[in-house]
Amino acid sequence: MPQTRINLDESDLPRRWYNVVPDLPEPPPPPLRPGTREPVGPDDLTPLFPPDLIAQEVSSERYVDIPEAVQDAYRLWRPTPLVRAHRLEKALGTPARIYFKYEGVSPVGSHKPNTAVPQAYYNATQGVRRLTTETGAGQWGSALAFACAQFDLECEVWMVRASYDQKPYRRTMMELFGAKVHASPSPETSTGAKALADDPSHPGSLGLAISEAVESAAPSDTRYALGSVLNHVLLHQTVIGEEAQAQLASLGEYPDLIIACTGGGSNFAGLTFPFLRDKLTTRANPRLLAVEPAACPSLTQGRYAYDFGDTAGFTPLLKMHTLGHEFIPDPIHAGGLRYHGMSPLLSHIHDLGLIEAAAKPQSETFEAGLLFARTEGIVPAPEPAHALAAVIAEARAATGPVVILTSVCGHGLLDLAAYGAHLTGSLTEPDPAPRIAAALSRLP
Ligand SMILES: *Cc1c(COP(=O)(O)O)cnc(C)c1O
Repeated sequence: MPQTRINLDESDLPRRWYNVVPDLPEPPPPPLRPGTREPVGPDDLTPLFPPDLIAQEVSSERYVDIPEAVQDAYRLWRPTPLVRAHRLEKALGTPARIYFKYEGVSPVGSHKPNTAVPQAYYNATQGVRRLTTETGAGQWGSALAFACAQFDLECEVWMVRASYDQKPYRRTMMELFGAKVHASPSPETSTGAKALADDPSHPGSLGLAISEAVESAAPSDTRYALGSVLNHVLLHQTVIGEEAQAQLASLGEYPDLIIACTGGGSNFAGLTFPFLRDKLTTRANPRLLAVEPAACPSLTQGRYAYDFGDTAGFTPLLKMHTLGHEFIPDPIHAGGLRYHGMSPLLSHIHDLGLIEAAAKPQSETFEAGLLFARTEGIVPAPEPAHALAAVIAEARAATGPVVILTSVCGHGLLDLAAYGAHLTGSLTEPDPAPRIAAALSRLP
């Protein structure tokens, strides 16, 4: 049987991140100030982010060097393995060759530390003492808590109430890394207090938790950190795709089709942008497919329009695929995919016709997760199980030896309650259409 696991040496760790922006045929539309609709300048971002991250956010350099201290921290778990899914292929009886990049080996079990570590590093080296953030399923919060522990920063996290109740172990993980965790909406902020006054049993949403974390970043020694959506986050995640490209090249393979799940877009961008570079420079032409939940379908059902990144309207206006900033997704189990918008950079790339998108319902997602666990021995997080559902459908339809690459961007060992609900048949399939229509009618 051909090789299963393709490992790189520590010395093969990528030394720079790839910025796709200068390779695009046109730059993405800029963020705007809500009042004047003027483009946001770097100065508008200084209350929120340190200078190095702002520079990366607006950078037109193709490559950004990864600082030594960040490389050192990456070496705790990187390079991550690329695995040929022989047993899944066999179970499907497919002529396709399926590879997955496995990010579940990180300290918190997902791809999120790839950006949490450099964000904590740049804040720490630029005089910041405390970071605030929001978290959906808890993966980003635990990644930032871990990263803050590496660089002696305080960390305060607003966790979406639905996940706070469903995933108590994620909260414990954040606390064991030293973070302080609030259920969002919380009484600590004016946005949270207002939401609680409207609905004392409010399930929370990522947009609302962002508002709370941004509001709490006001003190001068405090900055805010975002785990997805922004350009600098997508930039940091390109270590995934750079490694995958080297690993596939060592086998003489190149993907025909790359499939990844999308919440805010960072895992998808991280895996695909180095391959998109090949597409843009006409060296290769892989299909790139983004997969999102049917319950929160921003790319497939949203509008490409200027909208707020948060519920309260504190952020600049971002041109992105959005379901409306007031859209509250049902508390489905893929908490990491419950965001009303999509990365503006990825939305632009979708608008340029460079990527495709599909939405998957929960039932198909968890079936895919089960088949993957039973064949490959890894319980995937519900988020990458969306991508696996698409991988399985494409592999079943394949009539020849297509090479499919995906990212298992997190393990699901803290998502067993969701798998349990699937196994006992108690998962529901919410229909978000009426609420999407209502939220889209209230775009700014
Ligand atoms: C956060 C998260 C996601 C969704 O965020 P993206 O920015 O779209 O990657 C997906 N999968 C896992 C495992 C996550 O932790």
